[in-house]
Parts: sequence; C-alpha cells; structure tokens
Amino acid sequence: MIIAIDGPAASGKGTIARRLAQHYGLPHLDTGLLYRATARVLLDQGERLDDAERAVSAARGLALTDFEEERLRGAEIGEAASVVAAIPAVRAALLETQRAFATQASGAVLDGRDIGTVICPDANAKLFVTARPETRAQRRALELRGRGERADYADVLADILRRDERDSGRSSAPLVAASDAILLDTSDLDVDAAVAAARAIVEKVGRRL
Ligand code: C5P
Repeated sequence: MIIAIDGPAASGKGTIARRLAQHYGLPHLDTGLLYRATARVLLDQGERLDDAERAVSAARGLALTDFEEERLRGAEIGEAASVVAAIPAVRAALLETQRAFATQASGAVLDGRDIGTVICPDANAKLFVTARPETRAQRRALELRGRGERADYADVLADILRRDERDSGRSSAPLVAASDAILLDTSDLDVDAAVAAARAIVEKVGRRL
C-alpha cells in the first residue's frame, strides 16, 4: 500500500504520516528533507539558492547522513528549501529517489507537496492535509521554541504565508491537491483526532485494495 500525504507547512501532514507509517508498519519518507538537505549544502557552500546547476549537483550528491542533522528542521532551511524546490531540474533530480522509496515491496508512506500529483499518482490512498494559516503559525512557533529557536508569531505567520505562496505559485509541481485526494482540515483537531481521521480515510479508500 502506498499512502501519499500532501499539504502546506505545519498542516500536521508530517505527524500524520509518521503515525500512519507506525500503525500500518510501513517505511516513511519525509520528502521535505530532500529539499531541505539540498538547500543546506548551498547555504554551507555560500552559493546562491537559485543557482540551478549547483542546486542540481547538491541534490544529486545527497547521502543518507545529510538527513540526520537537527538544523535541517529549522526555519531558515525551510525557507531556503522552498527556493531550491521551485527549480524544475532539482525536482527532476530528486524524483527517482522518491519513486524508488514509494515502490519498494513493503509499500510506503510519503509526505510532501507533490506526492499525490507527481511522485505517486497511483497511490492507494491520497490525503491533502490543510489547516488555517493562523493555526499552522501557532503550531510552528511552538515547535520552533521547543527546539530552542526564537519564534515570533507574526514572523512565523508571514513566513508560512510566503512559503504557501511560493509553493502554490511555482510552475513546476505546485502545491495542489490531486483530483482524487481526500481533504483533511486539522485546524480544530488535536493530534490524536487528526490521526484517527486520517486512518478512517485510509481505511475507507483501502477497502478497494
Ligand atoms: O515539508 P517541509 O516544510 O519540510 O518542506 C520544505 C520545502 O520543501 C517546502 O516549502 C517546499 O517548497 C519543498 N517541498 C516540495 N515538495 C515536496 C516536499 C517539500 O517542494 N514534496
């Protein structure tokens, strides 16, 4: 079974993906980490984030160890990731890794922005997870503070809106729900309720499997 989960920043898609993967015993790939790790290489090398050639070579050179660092989850890298993610050649360079992960024999859960539309158009279950921008900003600010980063609510909200606009407005694989994705708005749900709703969706569509 392949479960594809897409949605904007801090919608709850990562937590839902992790919990579904645990529940169904499936491997999970947070695809945002691929773009974050690519951006991190450029930042560390002092290169421009919109230098397509260097960004592609950074994407091709990613090793598994690139995903372990705590700094990858930070706000600065999230913003930088959305810049490199808008480069079509970077997306192309990362496509096969994601498809290979998705099509392993065990099945898989992947979360990101284009899983249901581009990476796994034939996924068994597709969820599009959303939440109000204000709710997402509150969650992200709490998460960043929990990791010891300074996080002003207004700045985080502005960040989220800018990232939404960049991710939805880009020409290559924009953030959009697949036509056969089921929408899950987590604005008024706590984590357990959101995960239960996601499981109910997977089980409903999964009956067709
Ligand atoms: O999900 P996360 O916040 O880690 O993603 C960071 C950025 O990577 C997103 O804002 C988006 O621009 C990009 N991304 C993407 N496609 C994916 C996953 C992430 O474009 N499948």
